[in-house]
Amino acid sequence: METKQIKVSDPNALQIAGQILKQGGLVAIPTETVYGLAADVWNETAVTKIFQAKGRPQDNPLIVHICDLVQLERLTRQISSTAKLLMKTFWPGSLTLIFPKSNEVPDVVSAGLDTVAVRFPSNPIAQEVIRAAGTPLAAPSANRSGRPSPTTAQHVWEDLNGRIDAVLDGGACEVGVESTVLDLTVCPPRLLRPGAVTYEQLQELLGQVEIDRAVCHPVEVGGKVSSPGMKYKHYAPKARLVLLDGSYEQYCAYVNAHSSPETAALCFSGEESGLQVQTVTYGSIQDDSGQARDLFDALRQLDGQNVSLIYARCPQPTGIGLAVYNRLIRAAGFEVISLA
Ligand code: AMP
Ligand code: MG
Repeated sequence: METKQIKVSDPNALQIAGQILKQGGLVAIPTETVYGLAADVWNETAVTKIFQAKGRPQDNPLIVHICDLVQLERLTRQISSTAKLLMKTFWPGSLTLIFPKSNEVPDVVSAGLDTVAVRFPSNPIAQEVIRAAGTPLAAPSANRSGRPSPTTAQHVWEDLNGRIDAVLDGGACEVGVESTVLDLTVCPPRLLRPGAVTYEQLQELLGQVEIDRAVCHPVEVGGKVSSPGMKYKHYAPKARLVLLDGSYEQYCAYVNAHSSPETAALCFSGEESGLQVQTVTYGSIQDDSGQARDLFDALRQLDGQNVSLIYARCPQPTGIGLAVYNRLIRAAGFEVISLA
């Protein structure tokens, strides 16, 4: 069955989306980070359908989205003073916190872990959909597993048409990369996934924060991971992607010397002129927020071109740039060439 397309400009949009969710359906919803594929967190059958629609491995837990702090109480066993400080500072926003989970949270949501990931999104449409559904919503990114996350309703449609009940079109996402994930069940708190709430901001507020090794390094086969999502090859375009770490001049020289008609370059905007291959841009070099916003759309554009090899210029791994770097090295399967 074709997926229903709902525009937020439709006066009944929220009511329709809320109704589908209440009845155990799946709706892709806009958030400030990326589009999420939402289901009622308390409905195990509905949550199981998320894994089927995405082709998501069962051992990869979901993030639960709330629209007020009262909803947090039934999801968690304990809310520490550190959690309260983070919530006061960064919620609503693109920070996901890992809490000890309450017994009521279905195992399918947390993939059998004793913890639950929760986020209070700032996007007003996301908040209103949660309110209309009358329940927290379990929602991973609304892409087919392994594909770049969706930052527009069109991206969701490309991946999931016919597999979910509806997509609510609220325009392009502001942030463009998935939320920062911080584990509060360990001491010091551990950054499992970088996002728009930066490592630097967390460190300034909390003092000590550890960066999980999986943020910047491949996970060893069979190794233990704090965040199961980090295990999988992710965000990958169909072509081989290689990251080049060096100056603009070094990047252009390398790409131009190693190109064929099937090569493309993923570069910062304004840097196209030095390259003799087809280019797709993703924000300017000084603008890490712009890079984050454009990254997944750029990876999807590259999929639409007939190329077998993509050379991407390596971003600075600071600020939101750490999130961009984290996604790109996964898309590249950790293939980085240092030109320095
Ligand atoms: P997605 O919503 O598609 O961005 O995926 C959710 C991400 O959060 C994945 O990387 C998960 O591994 C991670 N995650 C969700 N719940 C937990 C949890 N309880 N502990 C650690 N990581 C989690
Ligand atoms: Mg995802």
